[in-house]
Amino acid sequence: MARYRIAVIEGDGTGPEVISCALRVLESTGLDAEFIPIEAGYWAYQKFGKQVTDSAWEIIGESNCILKGPTTTPMGGGETGMKSVAVTLRQKLDLYANVRPCKSRPGVPVPTKFTNLDFVIVRENTEGLYKGIEFKMSDDEVVSLRVFTRRGCERISRFGFELARKEKRKKVTLVTKANILQLTDGFFTNIFYKVSENYPELEHEDIYVDRANMYMITNPTYFDVIVTSNLFGDILSDAAAGLIGGLGLAPGANMGDNFAMFEAVHGSAPKYAGQKKVNPTAMILSSVMMLRYLGEGSIAEKVEKAVDRVLLEGATNKEIVTYDLGGTATNVKMTEEIIKRME
Ligand code: NAD
Repeated sequence: MARYRIAVIEGDGTGPEVISCALRVLESTGLDAEFIPIEAGYWAYQKFGKQVTDSAWEIIGESNCILKGPTTTPMGGGETGMKSVAVTLRQKLDLYANVRPCKSRPGVPVPTKFTNLDFVIVRENTEGLYKGIEFKMSDDEVVSLRVFTRRGCERISRFGFELARKEKRKKVTLVTKANILQLTDGFFTNIFYKVSENYPELEHEDIYVDRANMYMITNPTYFDVIVTSNLFGDILSDAAAGLIGGLGLAPGANMGDNFAMFEAVHGSAPKYAGQKKVNPTAMILSSVMMLRYLGEGSIAEKVEKAVDRVLLEGATNKEIVTYDLGGTATNVKMTEEIIKRME
């Protein structure tokens, strides 16, 4: 029997393409793992009426973690539609911390002068506005509730401080809008400061999301670890991805106390589906985060170095990187180049 059982969600749109790239890389490392595809995604909803089927939940229950390709969520038109696969899994599996590193990669064209970024967004992943409590007051008024709990605020704050300590970082910044959303964000802020008392070696502060958003553009080196609520984290992390060269490069992990799911920050980019065009790097780097979670640090290092070598060489050899990096390679070709550099 393999050492690890990894449940794999192939995803929708370009999901299956980037997942197959990540699996090719993982398989070529010799990792002793069984990869089990599960029925989850918009396609599963269309076929079985459930975005995550019973058999998928069963396999998840017997797995070490999930490797997830991006999935499609059709936009609601006011009626209750399919709930996002990612949100369903995060909430049901209690994967409360969404960890999204923003790390510059060598050779990648970026839109600002900041070429050496290294900070992490820790986004609360199970509550806030994404709790999904929405209702209609009348034909002219609809409401979404923003739910914060003491447990939720405490554990995400602790997660941020623990991550800062583990990665030998210096500062944890809480991002809120506590001047306007006084009850919810005020509550979060008070809890954050209480938790900070256990980490006297770390600087900590709170800033408002509008200022944080400006710093993303004018002064992103300001950040080290950001702790924030669900919606703000979602928005800030796409901006952070933009800073390092785009969504094709931004990996992520959804962490709980006993389980985890690894997925790129980006979505299913359906307009490119079937073209083998989108960058596989975000998905491959999400696998690197998975390898570290499994305790396979040296394999993780090897894959990450190979990715960086391709990105660096891609600055001058456009045949080995994808369109978003100014290149002409398919994601299959870029993956082959990464594998070659691992040998
Ligand atoms: P998206 O991230 O799929 O794509 C936005 C744009 O970013 C693309 O058109 C493309 O230009 C670029 N992009 C994305 N991934 C890329 C890659 N790997 N390489 C190069 N460029 C890339 O966002 P969207 O268009 O807002 O959403 C499409 C679908 O994805 C929606 O149904 C949405 O709900 C879903 N989504 C899923 C997840 C998830 O599964 N966790 C996350 C975000 C969005």
